[in-house]
Formats: sequence, C-alpha cells, structure tokens
Amino acid sequence: MIKLLTPLKLGFFMRLDRPAIELPRLIEVRSSVIEEINLSLKRLNLKGSCILVADEITIKILGEKIMEVVKEEFDVEALLISEATIEEAKRFHQIYSEKNTNFVLAVGGGRVIDVAKYSSYLSNIPFISIPTVASHDGISSPRASLLGIDKKHSLLAHSPFGVIADIDVISNAPKRFTISGCADIICNKTAVLDWELSNRITGEHISHYSVALSNMTAETMIKSADIIATNTKEAAYTVMKGLITSSMSMCIAGSSRPASGAEHMISHVLEDVLEKPALHGEQCGIASIVTMYLHGGDWLRIRKALQTIGAPITLKEIGIDEDVFVDAIVNANSVRPDRFTILSSGITKKAAIAALSETGLLN
Ligand SMILES: [Zn+2]
Repeated sequence: MIKLLTPLKLGFFMRLDRPAIELPRLIEVRSSVIEEINLSLKRLNLKGSCILVADEITIKILGEKIMEVVKEEFDVEALLISEATIEEAKRFHQIYSEKNTNFVLAVGGGRVIDVAKYSSYLSNIPFISIPTVASHDGISSPRASLLGIDKKHSLLAHSPFGVIADIDVISNAPKRFTISGCADIICNKTAVLDWELSNRITGEHISHYSVALSNMTAETMIKSADIIATNTKEAAYTVMKGLITSSMSMCIAGSSRPASGAEHMISHVLEDVLEKPALHGEQCGIASIVTMYLHGGDWLRIRKALQTIGAPITLKEIGIDEDVFVDAIVNANSVRPDRFTILSSGITKKAAIAALSETGLLN
C-alpha cells in the first residue's frame, strides 16, 4: 500500500523560513566581452560613478583596459587592494561612502573579488564580478572569504549583480589556475555526499535543487576532463561555466554547503599550517579523493578525472608532507564543527594513514 507523506512529515524537509535566493542578473562568458562592457552595464541599468577594484597584477592584465572602455560612459576610478582582509573591505566601504559610489567592478581572482564582494555588501551597492582566472567558485557565490585578526572567515555577502568573464583573458592565465578551478568543482561530489549524510543523521535541511545542480556541474567536469586537459579556450570556457553554475548551487542553498564539505575543511587546515599552501582547488581535489574513499564511494573515478586534467593526485606532486596531511584530516572537523561531514565523528591517525595509502596519495 502506498502511504502518502502527511504535511507534517513534509515539514521536516521543508524550510519555510529560508532566506530569499539571490542570483546574478546577467552572466556573460565569451570572447571579446570587455570591448562591449558598457552595453552589459547599461543592460543592468547601472548609472553614475563606479570604482574598479583590482590588485597590482590584475590592473595590468585587464583593469586598465576596462578603465579605458568604461570611462567613455561612466565616472570610474581604480582602487587597488593590498590584502584580502575584513579591515581592507571596511576601508573600501568607507571610500565608497565618501565618493558616493554607485557600483563596483571587481577585476581579478579570489582576493580581489572577495574584498569587492564584502565591501559592496557593507555599502549596499551592486558589484560586477569580472574574473581574470577560472581558479575557484567564489566568482559568483554569495560568500566572501576574508582574513580576520585571527583566521579566515567566510562571510555572508550579496551575490554579484552581474558576471562578465572574458574567455580570451581567462585562457591566457597559467594553466594551473584553470585546472585548480576544475578540481574545485569535482569536489562537489563529496561535498554533496557530506550534505546528504548530514540530512540523514542530523536532519539538516537539504535543497535537492541545489544538490542536483552541484552534482551535475561536477559530472560535467568529470566527463569533460579530456577537453579541460587541452588548455584551450574551450577548456577555459567549460571550467568558467562550471564555476558559475557551481556558484548558482550555493546561491540556491544560501550557503557554501553544496560545494564545500570535509575536503574543504582539510584544505582550510592546510592553509593555516603551511607557509606556502598549494592552490585551493588542488588541495580540495586531492582531499576529495580521501573523503570519497571514506564515504565508500567511487574515489578511483575522482582520482582518474583529476589525473586527466593534470591536477596533483599524490602528496609528492602537491608538495605536502604525509604528517601534515594526516594531521589536516584528523583536525579537519575543528574548522567548522557546526557543519556535519564524514569526519564529524572523528578519525584516528591510523585510519587517516590507511586512507592515504589505499588511495595512492602516498605513491
Ligand atoms: Zn572551493
């Protein structure tokens, strides 16, 4: 006999008090998009004066070119970030108020976008995300990762009003960035498993739309691994679209949950303890092989995809000592104890070493 769920039982899965979903209003991913950036800004109905946020490198790569085009239609001035800290974001917020800035153009990688994202959120003005690399999925997500006095914080902010990604620029960035971005998306496979596990164990709310989008994006990367390995414009386009779609899954969830599980926590520990950490996606990717193994899932498929795109799959390749990585696995849960993952009930050192050995990370 089929038993229908009563409204009460459905209520367990529904979250009627959830915050509104914020998505970018315009997304442009193509060649030569910068030449027509004013058209994009007008489509977004943006008016008045803007500040272009960049750093010393990205102002040269793309910022100056954008300034040339934008100044034909808008009042624009450039502001360079020196560090990706909460203090820097507050300083920028102050400057926007003094100058009556109407909107912000963020030109760069993670650091620039995070400062622009949080400072524009504090000022309650829109920001446009203009990535110069396809290295991680914070490009269009609603969260900013900034350094506080003690450690890195993931802060709630607004999603970008628009995302403008010039494939000519992104495909010219070092190959390592695009590979790292792709690895960051492949990790969605384990992040989603952690979320589903938490839903079963703790009753945490889960958005099945967000899970489906996150999973689909990771699957697309795994199936496109051969294309991504070519380091062509097509590779840059594929990864950039994946990063934006992965960000969408976070916008729908209202948190980083669909794209950040135990593998990200391991990477956060590594960032804290290593003087020179590897790239975010590289660390999360390799950690994802281990957490997939711990989930009892198809870790060989994750490892094969990472290997095909050219991401590191051994500790030797990523330049991290075994002891450091083992400690990162054991201590991962302390990064975010409120987020239930496969590591939440703890793991022994012996089991962590065995997982590294079984998955070939010690080769
Ligand atoms: Zn990530």
